[in-house]
Amino acid sequence: MAINHRKCTRCGSLNTMPIMYGEPSYEAFLESEQGKFKLGGCMVSPTSPEYHCRECGNEWNREDAVTHAYEQLRGMKAVVGGYPDGNYEVDIDFEERKLVWSHEEESHKIELTSSDIERLLYELKWLNILNWRAEYVEPFSMDGTSWRIEFRRDGRNLKKRGVNDFPEEWKEFCQLMRNMSGKEFR
Ligand SMILES: [Zn+2]
Repeated sequence: MAINHRKCTRCGSLNTMPIMYGEPSYEAFLESEQGKFKLGGCMVSPTSPEYHCRECGNEWNREDAVTHAYEQLRGMKAVVGGYPDGNYEVDIDFEERKLVWSHEEESHKIELTSSDIERLLYELKWLNILNWRAEYVEPFSMDGTSWRIEFRRDGRNLKKRGVNDFPEEWKEFCQLMRNMSGKEFR
């Protein structure tokens, strides 16, 4: 599931409307009177809000929605592997700032700093990871590499997975997991 820009970044409501800028036509004016959208006036800047929450009055734009989505993450677990190498796993708790890497019987634990977590979130945002599809599957191959990533949040967890098919940022993601853990991840 991708980031829903329309969802209120303060109260989580979907009872929201877009904000329209510029001189409204008469029809647009009537529609705004009916509450279909809000008129934002003629002045618009890159930081102008694009959405208005009917429930709490909060206003935000796409960039705010993306930042908010990453701030809501509490932790993540990434697993990749296949025959005969077995699975590599990295589990990171963003709040406790702990990373556990494991492969077969081997396991390795690292304490992270808050700036490590900040950098990780920045990198994940750069990889656009929350907008990856839920599933990547190459239907014509029998075996090979499978992977899954689960993000822990206060609400429902977010899951991504794949078999022999990967998002285009996959190699960079594996590199990030190697950098964070100091261990193999492939
Ligand atoms: Zn709201």
